[in-house]
Amino acid sequence: MTNGGLILDGLTPHARLHALCLLAAHPGLRPTSGRRSVERNRAVGGVQGSFHLTGRAIDLSGGRGLLVAAARTARAQRVSHGCTGPEEVIDEGDHLHVAW
Ligand SMILES: [Zn+2]
Ligand SMILES: [Zn+2]
Repeated sequence: MTNGGLILDGLTPHARLHALCLLAAHPGLRPTSGRRSVERNRAVGGVQGSFHLTGRAIDLSGGRGLLVAAARTARAQRVSHGCTGPEEVIDEGDHLHVAW
């Protein structure tokens, strides 16, 4: 049992919808980080002004092929009328960071 559900709960409704669609498209992905407090963000070495602070970013772990495929999906994904896609899609090697 992961805490993926709780991680998603901390996201904005828009980011959460994107995350749910991405997870549905790539079931092997595992959410590892969502909204962070300033203290938590500093502790994990997050950048200042990170989208994690406002609940707009999520980190996802999985195998290499899965992360590459998920990055492609995330860039193409639109979830609502007027949706312009992600703000950030960063393949960090051991995880994928996506912000909306
Ligand atoms: Zn969107
Ligand atoms: Zn991140």
